[in-house]
Amino acid sequence: MLKRKPRNAAALTEPVIVPRDRHNVSRKQLSPNALKVLYRLRDQGYDAYLVGGCIRDALLGLKPKDFDVATSASPDDVRDAFRNCRLVGRRFRLAHILFGREVIEVATFRANHNPDTAVDDAGRILRDNVFGTIEDDAIRRDFTVNALYYDVSNFTVIDYVGGMDDLESRQIRLLGDPTLRYREDPVRALRAARFAAKLDFEIEPETAAPLAEAGALLADIPPARLFEEVLKLFQGGYAVASLAKLREYDLLKFLFPTVDARLRANEAIPTALCNRALANTDVRVLEEKPITPAFLYAALLWPDVQEHYEALLADDDMPPIPAMHAATDRVLDAQLRITALPKRFSAVVREIWTLQPRLERYKGRRATKAMESPRFRAGYDLLCLRAEAGEPLGELAKWWTDIQTGEEADRARAVREETAARQRAEGRRNTRRGGRRRSGGGNRKRNGDRSNPKPD
Ligand code: ATP
Ligand code: MG
Repeated sequence: MLKRKPRNAAALTEPVIVPRDRHNVSRKQLSPNALKVLYRLRDQGYDAYLVGGCIRDALLGLKPKDFDVATSASPDDVRDAFRNCRLVGRRFRLAHILFGREVIEVATFRANHNPDTAVDDAGRILRDNVFGTIEDDAIRRDFTVNALYYDVSNFTVIDYVGGMDDLESRQIRLLGDPTLRYREDPVRALRAARFAAKLDFEIEPETAAPLAEAGALLADIPPARLFEEVLKLFQGGYAVASLAKLREYDLLKFLFPTVDARLRANEAIPTALCNRALANTDVRVLEEKPITPAFLYAALLWPDVQEHYEALLADDDMPPIPAMHAATDRVLDAQLRITALPKRFSAVVREIWTLQPRLERYKGRRATKAMESPRFRAGYDLLCLRAEAGEPLGELAKWWTDIQTGEEADRARAVREETAARQRAEGRRNTRRGGRRRSGGGNRKRNGDRSNPKPD
């Protein structure tokens, strides 16, 4: 149908212009705010196009997630054209145009493969702020399907790189020489796996061949950036598919090495736990229920925590609470060196883990105390997931379910009220002492736990 363009070519000149009646991007699919930005820039004499994921997704009949604009206007020009504009980014200067909660990202056409592009010894791009033409902009993008432009002035799709053909044959194909492009930015390896999962595409053989080698370069990527990629892989509604692609191309070990090792060794319970955690996340995303990376990390890494915890209890004869804290420290320290997890999440992960042995030694006042934890629900959810994954906790999970729903719930409430009354009677002195910070919020909980170490 469309004229075939050379593949993996570094520089192309004549684009394929796809007229409105040959593609299915309709303005109805596009954000009215993004269209406003396009019209305003065009009125001021600049070129401006929608590009990237939004056009790719619209062409595939998917709902675009966010809208990116590429323009000939410089960031300062863009700022002058919009009152609601903020310039962001150091490595790339971008303009964000704010419409309430919607942000339209506007980037000036950029050139790559340019003598001015600064790279480090490994070939990684350090600075990439050289402005260029739309054609330069197209070929410095990652994949052909991400380099399609939509021209609102005549409703055409502009294709410099064979992206329409690849959409049709469902291929993820890197632009340029794959080895070089991964070296410039190894995160492209994860992006290849992610788009293949999200779109149910194949990774074209030349793009796939250097993937494992490219994965090794992820060690040099800042953990905060890898965390962002983990969120995209596992919280976009296609986590199960992402895991499968990461495993297929042997990339999981660069993000979650211990999970990868357990899956590889076919460890039954950790495998079931991982699969269920990801499948549940996909369902929650689909149902538009809230999700948190804290729960995901807690579930994926629980087998590690459990292993260390049990070893410390058995071999080192450590009491349960310090053993749990030592185990959580060890697992989080190792993981956060690879993929960062902001403190607000890692604190929650710890609490979810710390709750597990408390939930396992249930009954009476200890149980109701656990229920007062702000993380009780997440802790309980992990307990249920562990039971479903095959840990012998079925009875226990049922007990916790009952206590929240049936007659047990009434009893629990009564004990809770009694506890609260007793605490009030004991006066505020203890509460205040317990609430004083010593060496961080985490310790406060530990001290609280130690005050009642024996099972009731
Ligand atoms: P998503 O559906 O996940 O938002 P997307 O394609 O929009 O997919 P973004 O990360 O939002 O992905 O990036 C927007 C566009 O910027 C991409 O479509 C691609 O053209 C370009 N891009 C993003 N990351 C890179 C990269 N590492 N190298 C080259 N181009 C990139
Ligand atoms: Mg996007």
